[in-house]
Amino acid sequence: MMQLQLLPALLWTVLCHHAWSYHIFTSPDQLDSTKTYDYIIVGGGTAGSVLAARLSEDERNQVLVIEAGGRVEDVLAIRIPFLGPTLPRSQVDWNYTTIPQTGLGNRIINIPRGFVLGGSSCINQMVFHRPSNGSWDHWADLVDDPSLSWEAVQKYWLRNSRLVDPVDGHDTSEEVILSAHGFGPVNVSVYSYTKPIHKSIIETSKKAVDEKFKFNHDQNAGSNLGWGWQQAAIGGGQRSCASTAYLSPLTNTRSNLDILINTQAAKLLPIPKTSNNLTPDLRIVEIAQNSTAPPICITARKEVILSAGFIGSPKILTLSGIGPEKELKRLGIPLLLESPDVGANLQDHILLPLYFTVVNGTDTNDELSRNATLRQEAIDQWIANRTGPMVNGQSNTVAYLRVGDDHFSSAGVKEDPSNGAGSAHIEILALDGFSRVSTIPAPPTGQFLTLIASLVAPLSSGNITFNSTDPFAYPLINPNFLTHKFDQAAIVQAMKDILEFVQLSPLNSLVTGIYGSIADAKTDAELLEYAREYSGSINHGSRTARMGPYGKKGKGWGVVDPSYRVKGVKGLRVVDASVFPQMPNVHTQASVYILAERAADIILGGQK
Ligand SMILES: Cc1cc2nc3c(=O)[nH]c(=O)nc-3n(C[C@H](O)[C@H](O)[C@H](O)COP(=O)(O)OP(=O)(O)OC[C@H]3O[C@@H](n4cnc5c(N)ncnc54)[C@H](O)[C@@H]3O)c2cc1C
Repeated sequence: MMQLQLLPALLWTVLCHHAWSYHIFTSPDQLDSTKTYDYIIVGGGTAGSVLAARLSEDERNQVLVIEAGGRVEDVLAIRIPFLGPTLPRSQVDWNYTTIPQTGLGNRIINIPRGFVLGGSSCINQMVFHRPSNGSWDHWADLVDDPSLSWEAVQKYWLRNSRLVDPVDGHDTSEEVILSAHGFGPVNVSVYSYTKPIHKSIIETSKKAVDEKFKFNHDQNAGSNLGWGWQQAAIGGGQRSCASTAYLSPLTNTRSNLDILINTQAAKLLPIPKTSNNLTPDLRIVEIAQNSTAPPICITARKEVILSAGFIGSPKILTLSGIGPEKELKRLGIPLLLESPDVGANLQDHILLPLYFTVVNGTDTNDELSRNATLRQEAIDQWIANRTGPMVNGQSNTVAYLRVGDDHFSSAGVKEDPSNGAGSAHIEILALDGFSRVSTIPAPPTGQFLTLIASLVAPLSSGNITFNSTDPFAYPLINPNFLTHKFDQAAIVQAMKDILEFVQLSPLNSLVTGIYGSIADAKTDAELLEYAREYSGSINHGSRTARMGPYGKKGKGWGVVDPSYRVKGVKGLRVVDASVFPQMPNVHTQASVYILAERAADIILGGQK
């Protein structure tokens, strides 16, 4: 979240020669043209890496991953947690933007997505939260399938991640509940070298009279609500992402896994019909390295799995003729299957920073962000022994809050927009230092606390559409941020909650004032104006190929069924953030991992 100055060129160079444990190819010509694959996974991102590792555990399965981006090992900044904010708008970002957002004063908002093996898990801010137990039960109800309930998916949470010690080795028993965590490959830890601001925040929450600010011993133990210590996908001082956790450790015996990088899937084609079965069987993937290269087709023996993310997956479906009929007609794409929800229902969480000055001399990250020499020393320390300030991400404490029921009725909303009673509407992320997450320039001196408000149960919803059939062209992304009345009321409430919290003891003895024009905002309308001016995306886009119940088709019933199969065709599933039935009311990566582990189980179960 803190945008640091330009990285030294060193950070973008290859660190070492890596002995590849699976077959990695950089061009389609390198693939063995006589070889066939059981599964072709399009997109080696967060979900795609899980599927690649799990499906190839059965050595009878020949698995091919097609990934548009490059190797994760080539970019040192991916490994260094504190440098996370330098990755958006870099070579490992697709560099998407929205169309002008009417709810945000017609501003265009950056929408980063990982352009690298491991996908967005390699460029994200590493916050690691799973939705509350009740969220999963709510999703199970929505898609009418108990196999999505918490009782059923808990094993995938345990299979995906494990809690590891922070590098400073401090006692974490008051910060997390070990028994709530699993044994999977993604390392998760609390931060090291806790700063006074965060100690004060937690102390304040422990003393708070108001239930909403109460301390939560572990936000990954069933309920997310309250203030807690941040858990992040960091282990041994370095980022743990989908490719480093799931793919890097594979041994040389994983010879049944091929990964083709620097290559895009353009579209899917149906297998020519050999019988009267009219259901299209979409197991042919057309790939290319750029818009002028001749496309190549590869056929999967069993299935194609789209894991290209909330932008990539609906794009490939649309270019293959699966989407809203009107949209396909407009683009001149022959209709293969009318699927009105493709590209629809897009939602994202907004982020809004509020800045506070703190007592002069408080130990914050401000100097580290301002001073290039200090930063280089910290990077050198990290390279030498994986210690020092670079081992942490940006936000060491975090809260999830609900808004009162009156917010629903005043916005004309009949149902609670969240995933249920144990889930949040609002998140507050606490960062020590002035976060460069907005257009407000960072002051040259002083120490700051940034409290970021995020709407985690939004009702504003938009879509992804296209104005070209070129697979390399960028889509029109419209999350319609802050256009729903509920979201407008909820962001104002989030700001009020923040302003109330900083006045509580003992935090009020560290915070000396509000910084910036928000200090002048007195009415709800003025607070909302501030939100419209400074909100951005926290980068949790999802739902563009939403999951719906079995057997129901058409508008509102989703693109995939609870087994991730694209409704109305054969041989094709979608597994990534685009299939969430409803937005998770937390950060999204843990949900993607859980859904991907579940998908692998379903696919492998089906072949037994
Ligand atoms: C900057 C940023 C910060 C974030 N912070 C957090 C956070 O702190 N905590 C959290 O929980 N979540 C966070 N998220 C969100 C989270 O990372 C994503 O929701 C999640 O990783 C999405 O997983 P996915 O598998 O759906 O997509 P991705 O991981 O994005 O994977 C999609 C993959 O498909 C590839 N691809 C796309 N199109 C094609 C094509 N045509 N052919 C071949 N390959 C293709 C992409 O290159 C990519 O590798 C953040 C995201 C970003 C970008």
